[in-house]
Amino acid sequence: MEPPGSPDPDKDDLPLWANTNHMLVKHYVLDLTVHLHSRLINGSIVLFLEPQPEADEAERRQDGATFQKADTTKETWLEFGAKEEDKEKICDSVDVQSSHLWETTSSSDFTLVLDCCDLDVSKVEEVDITSIPGIMDLLPESASVRSDILSGNPQSAFMENLLSMPSSQWQTKHRIFSLCSRAPCAENGGSMPFRRDLWSLQVRKRRVTSAQQFPRVIRIHYQTKACGRSLRWTKDQDNRLCVYTAGSPINNRALFPCQEPPVAMSTWQAAVRAPSECVVLMSGEEQAVPTKDGDTHFLVWNYYVTMPMPASTFTLAVGHWHRVPTETFPASETEVGKILDCRNMAKPRPERGESSESRLVSRLGKSSHKTVKDFPLQTGSGEENTHSSSAFCHSSLEDEELSVTDYSAMLNDGTSCSHSDYPCRFTELTAWSQRVIPHRVFSPVCLLQKAQMSVLKLLPRCLAAAHAVLGVHPFPRLDVLIVPAGFSSLGMASPHIVFLSQSVLDTGSPASGGGSLSLCGSRICHEIAHSWFGLVIGARDWTEEWISEGFATCLEDTIWAQAQQLSSQERSEQFDLKALLRWRRLSDEMQNSKEELQILRPNMEKTGQVSESGSSTVKHALNPEKTFMQVHYLKGYFLLRFLASEVGEEEFINFLRMFVRKYHGHLILSQDFLQMFLTTFSHMNRKSLTLCDIYSDWLDRPGIPEWLRERSAVWPQTRLVEEVKEEVIKWILFSRTHHGKGRKRKRLKPKTNFKELTAEQLVLLLELLLEEPQQSVASMHALHKIYNLHGQDAEVRHRWCELVVKHAFTQGYADVERFLVHNQAMGVYLYGELMLQEDPDQQALARRCLSAVEEEMDPSARRVVEEMIL
Ligand SMILES: [Zn+2]
Repeated sequence: MEPPGSPDPDKDDLPLWANTNHMLVKHYVLDLTVHLHSRLINGSIVLFLEPQPEADEAERRQDGATFQKADTTKETWLEFGAKEEDKEKICDSVDVQSSHLWETTSSSDFTLVLDCCDLDVSKVEEVDITSIPGIMDLLPESASVRSDILSGNPQSAFMENLLSMPSSQWQTKHRIFSLCSRAPCAENGGSMPFRRDLWSLQVRKRRVTSAQQFPRVIRIHYQTKACGRSLRWTKDQDNRLCVYTAGSPINNRALFPCQEPPVAMSTWQAAVRAPSECVVLMSGEEQAVPTKDGDTHFLVWNYYVTMPMPASTFTLAVGHWHRVPTETFPASETEVGKILDCRNMAKPRPERGESSESRLVSRLGKSSHKTVKDFPLQTGSGEENTHSSSAFCHSSLEDEELSVTDYSAMLNDGTSCSHSDYPCRFTELTAWSQRVIPHRVFSPVCLLQKAQMSVLKLLPRCLAAAHAVLGVHPFPRLDVLIVPAGFSSLGMASPHIVFLSQSVLDTGSPASGGGSLSLCGSRICHEIAHSWFGLVIGARDWTEEWISEGFATCLEDTIWAQAQQLSSQERSEQFDLKALLRWRRLSDEMQNSKEELQILRPNMEKTGQVSESGSSTVKHALNPEKTFMQVHYLKGYFLLRFLASEVGEEEFINFLRMFVRKYHGHLILSQDFLQMFLTTFSHMNRKSLTLCDIYSDWLDRPGIPEWLRERSAVWPQTRLVEEVKEEVIKWILFSRTHHGKGRKRKRLKPKTNFKELTAEQLVLLLELLLEEPQQSVASMHALHKIYNLHGQDAEVRHRWCELVVKHAFTQGYADVERFLVHNQAMGVYLYGELMLQEDPDQQALARRCLSAVEEEMDPSARRVVEEMIL
């Protein structure tokens, strides 16, 4: 493992330098003000620290020594970490900034190292928590505190007591955190010595040589820079200013100084001030109700979490978005009465801002009440099943009934948790019975209707389906935001908030039928699945991205099938079709990517290892190519399909639920999952499947595993695929018979009887037609018309655009242009195809589109496209 201070020669690797083995941040209190016009956020962050017992003297000295010579690392990072043309974008962050007192410290002093980038730090203060009148009385009495106070270390004693308060008292705990965060600073308001370079912020206290003696609470005053890569300052689809954390490869270190290694799990509270016409959405357990900020035109939004999470999962979005209304769904008065009854039962305590759609869901779930009688739910504690009514209050949309999941066994098997103490939903009966958590959807005004027709319509159904598949929702609520057009992917999940791209929205075309909802539905299911895999169970080593993406891709199919109420045959047919589409994508990507990027566990047996101080580097994390690769999603997904095929679909899902119960609240490595799988299905050993086999076939090697190669021969023979192949033949014949007849024949109604296809089938059809060398103009017209292609989802339209480009079908160029402007996350390769053809019209089109969207485009997408075009 590279020691901190000596950059990895591979410029694509992300350094995580925080010395988490010596000190851990347990809680953050943020106090921030968002200035949309000047594109900056300023304020302060208070860190509550806990020294780690393992830190010994030698290691501490190593931290200090490394950063004493850190000036040399700056130039090296400039060379390795950034391209020449990026120097401006990184603004002056390559400059080392340090307080004038830094020189008075020495390498034998303890150094707190935080991950930090593109931030202007003005001051670091030691907070004097003991100066708050009466603060000691807020803590529970403890003999050790008294003795420590007498022995002269009241700060440590206070903090130990505060941090060890049981989760049942989290409200008091948060109140104390909040009071402490506003306490005056020690030592007459002077700044602690600090130093900042490209990737980190280092803080010392003169003559304090150990983590144990280091201040327990520090406050950092800072402001962000417009060029900071954690935040995207942009405009929404209504052309109004907004900012959001865009899931940058550098995570949140350009938003606040923090400990980025996932092992540094912490809770947080934040007060975010924003212009009063804005909405502030954030990872927080409750929907915030903004309050006025004195006489200013700003409102303050307060959020908090009680479940410790890695700082990288903190998510913020500030903009002029509106909540998507439910108005078009009518409810008669008597039904409203039922809704309210139902709602009262559903909620153990009144919830502020309770969403009207969850009431609506309650209403629509009424038909299920008879089901309750048929399936009385058992509870682990033997309580009356009063909660079961609430289970069905939050039932599926429409009159269909989702199958009842019997989760009583899970409760009976014990609800004790092995994670650190926090208020955990896995131990709450009311949480287990809540099939649909409170949820809201936000979007720019111009997309409200589309968001309502697709996202808001599907969300409760997908949430209920996820509950049926995986059990209790790990988080108590969910906001979904339709992010600006320049967002670099189709979706991103964080605690309590999901970002969705406008590309998944229904096209709004009446002729598209329900078919165009499948992209939206599966994407919602994918992001919801991340609550379990990626969030409440996280990867301990970020190089093992497959743990979140492979699982979410696999579960998206299961949850979406559940949401659609498919029969088991329909389900397996849909799985096969999706497997084939993903197999085609994977094998294509394997042929066009570097081998090193095809490995799911690039650190192999060193996975999860860190240096003495806790620092590490994340391999390939900053490689822009990787952003557009799906290998981790797809290969990980196929590994899980392989395991499911070995033990059976249902057993596999049952196993996942068991796994979630054991590992929620933990960070894991691949081996934790695989080992538990092999132990649970020990009969697998007879088939001689071992951990080593799985590593070598699937995780540690580039290329395609043997099972997948064999299995992929089966998918083309399945029913839905056969149907598509029949249609492909019809189209080939049609193209031949209408060859060269051009525009004159375009209105001629084709005599061929084409079969109706689902959206996924259409994707495959167009992909197979793309393999054909010829496609007559007449057949292009007919394709577009018969399948109403402009009303189909973005995946279908993407394949159509490829076909248009390949055959230089000029009448379709407007479709391509529209696609590139409105589906920026998906269009990157289409630019490449436009340039490859060496057709001046197509190249002009590519340049025109780029110049239309370059302002709002995701920076790494833009860089990739610019490289193709220029
Ligand atoms: Zn738990």
